[in-house]
Amino acid sequence: MNRIIAISHKRVTVLFLIVNFVMMITLSGCSKTEKVDVSHTQETVSISDSNDTEVFLDSDSSDVEEDSEGTTAQVNENETEVTHANSESSDTKAEETPEPSSELTPEPTEAQEPGRFEVHFLDVGQGDAILVICNDHAMLVDGGKSKESDKIYSYLRNHDIKHLDYIVATHPDADHIGGLAGALNYATVDVALSPVTDNETETFQNFKKYLTKQNIEITVPEAGETFVLGDADVQVIGPKTITNEDNNNSIVLRVIHGNNSFLLTGDAEEEEEQSILRSGADLKSTVLKVAHHGSAYSTGRQWLNAVSPQIAVISCGSENEYGHPTEQVLNHLKEMDISVLRTDMHGDIIFQEVEGELRYGVSFDTNEDVYTPGIIPISEEQPEQTSRVSPESDNSESTNEQTYILNTNTKKFHYPDCKSVKQMKDKNKQEYFGTRDNVIAMGYAPCGNCNP
Ligand SMILES: [Zn+2]
Ligand SMILES: [Zn+2]
Repeated sequence: MNRIIAISHKRVTVLFLIVNFVMMITLSGCSKTEKVDVSHTQETVSISDSNDTEVFLDSDSSDVEEDSEGTTAQVNENETEVTHANSESSDTKAEETPEPSSELTPEPTEAQEPGRFEVHFLDVGQGDAILVICNDHAMLVDGGKSKESDKIYSYLRNHDIKHLDYIVATHPDADHIGGLAGALNYATVDVALSPVTDNETETFQNFKKYLTKQNIEITVPEAGETFVLGDADVQVIGPKTITNEDNNNSIVLRVIHGNNSFLLTGDAEEEEEQSILRSGADLKSTVLKVAHHGSAYSTGRQWLNAVSPQIAVISCGSENEYGHPTEQVLNHLKEMDISVLRTDMHGDIIFQEVEGELRYGVSFDTNEDVYTPGIIPISEEQPEQTSRVSPESDNSESTNEQTYILNTNTKKFHYPDCKSVKQMKDKNKQEYFGTRDNVIAMGYAPCGNCNP
């Protein structure tokens, strides 16, 4: 049974931009019980509630203190560095002098965990970019729009990934392949996968241009093929056929490592989903990258049943013009009790396998009306939380006094029996007796789980 545990997130601390996974491995002391219940009661559990269980990555990396603003600054800063990479190679020797493909630069500060397996869903606004790391091998699946090149470049640099075994353009759309230029500016590549070898768009031509610089030709994978990335297996699930509709030509990959698996779907729509379902391929995956940013044309019930993920990740821009993700898809996910993480609400979403178990961290949490449930560790002794209507939810609100538990760190308040309370650090916990209105007036927001 996979255990998926929200290990950390702090609203403004982008812990994971400079991830020190060695630190993470030593964290979250595994005192959890065998089973982490990732199913949810009818009420959604706000991701932010897992703040209560936050784990501090007391890394001494100087970059760790960046906040959201800092992230922006960093990207801007890197904009110049991308430029520099073209003209001066003092800082990064990767570009003009490709390293032998079989060699990864050893990471000096981090021991190579033999079973290292991570999947990073990068926040690239409206688009996709997914970095898979296994042992000392890496694969980048999409890179967001061209303007995300800087982010991709700096992300690889910050993670010291100078070489990609695979770079995957799931399909030629600009919101998927534009930013791959940033990757190709920083890292050398062995194999470039794309469902087509050519496309007239400028973005695709640009992608090809950078591949040509590295003497890489596009490889068109076939459904049914499997390749390895470290000790992970990557199955090519789709496309089964090439259509005249780019989205339905999306390369669909299933990445499998031990008991954990990720289904990466590009922008596949119903047509491709159906053809894959007809093929009888095993789709069952721990984590599903929801296709096409959560558009209504993808992620039907049949598909979800076949994949039956514990977590769905939606990669989309906040307030994007397409209305992604759609209510329809969110409802399907909710109906099936599938927890959802969204790049528009959580920034970079990083899964990491620790001793066979999947954990995740997010770089921020916009909160509150996160429509989607989060996953929090649940101990065995905790009673299943049932949804309820707040006794103070009506007009009697202002007069009913009762005990609430405040989290002084997250500024959330809870019923005393909320499961989040049990996860809360003592130093953040404060009991308060009074009315709901008073608590809110003190600057606290109701927990999305117990809905006080
Ligand atoms: Zn797209
Ligand atoms: Zn597309």
